[in-house]
Amino acid sequence: LFLIVCMFVFSRLADLMEQHQEELATIESIDSGAVYTLALKTHIGMSVQTFRYFAGWCDKIQGCTIPINQARPNRNLTFTKKEPIGVCAIVIPWNYPLMMLAWKTAACLAAGNTVVLKPAQVTPLTALKFAELTALAKFPKGVVNILPGSGSLVGQRLSDHPDVRKLGFTGSTEIGKQIMKSCAVSNVKKVSLELGGKSPLIIFNDCDLDKAVRMGMSSVFFNKGENCIAAGRLFIEESIHDTFVERVVNEIKKMKIGDPLDRSTDHGPQNHKAHLDKLVEYCEKGVKERANLVFGGKQVNRPGFFFEPTVFTDVQDHMYIAIEESFGPIMIISKFSNGLRANATEYGLASGVFTRDISKALYVSEKLQAGTVFINTYNKTDVAAPFGGFKQSGFGKDLGQEALNEYLKIKCVTVEY
Ligand code: NAD
Ligand code: MN
Repeated sequence: LFLIVCMFVFSRLADLMEQHQEELATIESIDSGAVYTLALKTHIGMSVQTFRYFAGWCDKIQGCTIPINQARPNRNLTFTKKEPIGVCAIVIPWNYPLMMLAWKTAACLAAGNTVVLKPAQVTPLTALKFAELTALAKFPKGVVNILPGSGSLVGQRLSDHPDVRKLGFTGSTEIGKQIMKSCAVSNVKKVSLELGGKSPLIIFNDCDLDKAVRMGMSSVFFNKGENCIAAGRLFIEESIHDTFVERVVNEIKKMKIGDPLDRSTDHGPQNHKAHLDKLVEYCEKGVKERANLVFGGKQVNRPGFFFEPTVFTDVQDHMYIAIEESFGPIMIISKFSNGLRANATEYGLASGVFTRDISKALYVSEKLQAGTVFINTYNKTDVAAPFGGFKQSGFGKDLGQEALNEYLKIKCVTVEY
């Protein structure tokens, strides 16, 4: 009976979120600078889907029976049970405030835990509205706790806390390392980390070029580049390089930059001032190291934290902009003729390949050191598909069945009879 109640409460929460989707999208747009249309479809839309999806897992968490190799095998029964961990803490960033909350919280709750979630200090609003909706959905008191505050105070306290047994984190690699250390020193908390990325997108000359241009654009400029899987580096095959760059620049010129609440806006302001300043500096470094700045590179001359959609070409492996993540609307292009350096990065979150040659696509996808590979598409995340990085992009998965294991512990029981 309890599991059925769980599913019911979950579904009711998803319904309530959907009923409030315009309000949530407006708050998210104001708080994060995401254009309203995208906030409605992606930020809020996918959050609703995530709760619907995990509602279905509440009563499907099960172990298995295991034949063990003993002298008298018929006299043993070994089985596993998956148990909730207990009190889990979740710390998230500001780029998709509600969606990051949903990805982690839905799996955490479906697994039977309680949660203390800290939103990013600059974007706490939809998390607070969410708290109100969980009360309306009749989650029992104390199950969902939203605790806004700074990283150094509230975030740090959660990683240090002796009663928290699991910490789920999305954010920068730098803070992720610090959190992992605190989790170890305090009480060996279970930890999962979704960290930064510098995802390679490889475009071969035998691709569907129209689609490659369209998806290449969204791989970088989606959500004004504040996207963890944003393509951090594009590798374009020599024979199509110049055409690709020209077409991208033409598309950028058509983008409407402006008020995120205006339904016709394509490109809103960056999330906050410090982030905007970081992007200005980032581009200055690119110019100084003699990458070729083809378009943009500056703050837009209007009130607000607007940054021009930017394109750099002739980017060499050793350059700062080839190595460091920008997390902004900055396309970093390198030409290739043979030999690929797509794995020449400490990150391993996502990657993409465009080619009509299926063998080539599958060969490259096998070689890519990244938790997600998109072939002839990009940004195609789905609630049912596990998401998470390799290397210094972290470990552990959000979404899909795999996400549940991040918030469960496995008990193995052996009986002799
Ligand atoms: P950040 O690491 O500075 O902050 C993330 C969260 O951690 C915030 O809530 C912050 O308050 C908190 N925090 C800061 N210091 C802390 C501490 N000492 N202890 C505990 N918590 C602390 O990241 P940011 O600058 O806010 O966000 C941008 C970064 O997040 C980018 O590097 C981006 O790649 C990454 N990101 C990754 C993903 C992913 O899925 N892998 C998704 C979104 C963002
Ligand atoms: Mn930060």
